[in-house]
Amino acid sequence: PRRTQSSVAGGAERTLIAVKPDGVQRRHVGQIIQRFEQRGFKLVGLKMLQASDGLLSQHYCQLVQKPFYPNLLHYMTSGPVVAMVWEGQNVVQSSRRMVGPTNPVEAQPGTVRGDFSLHTSRNVVHASDSVEGAQREIQLWFEGKELLNWDCFDHSLTYKED
Ligand code: UDP
Repeated sequence: PRRTQSSVAGGAERTLIAVKPDGVQRRHVGQIIQRFEQRGFKLVGLKMLQASDGLLSQHYCQLVQKPFYPNLLHYMTSGPVVAMVWEGQNVVQSSRRMVGPTNPVEAQPGTVRGDFSLHTSRNVVHASDSVEGAQREIQLWFEGKELLNWDCFDHSLTYKED
């Protein structure tokens, strides 16, 4: 029988990936999307937006008290952001590995931050850091109707049935 996404081990795990304003300005959007497509993840939501102070204070609710928060807010509102939701088995953990550590100095070549950035405050991309965090962030950035449930025709090649 044809498998549906929910019968895959790991279920329909989703994560929020956002190309930050520096990534958009530097025209890295296409290359970042390409990495997630190439890995085998499924794009289920995509939009470009100017993030508001309110959205960002919710998104970064654990950081609003940090001394760097005003600079982070300035950075994140300096231009458009491209927000995406990617789906697949272990997509949260795999995406964090694809993106690399917060500080690009520690990021390996081959990661997005390791290939495209030099400094923590200009690290090109956001990736949710836990399944619960991803669910919270996706609800914040997207309305339900903006997320599409669709079948990827190569699903049975990307995932081994067992
Ligand atoms: N950030 C910063 N200075 C810091 C720590 C974080 O400017 O000392 C910024 C950086 O852009 C980072 C974001 O705040 O990506 C969110 O920080 P977090 O610790 O959640 O890292 P992430 O999950 O993005 O790797």
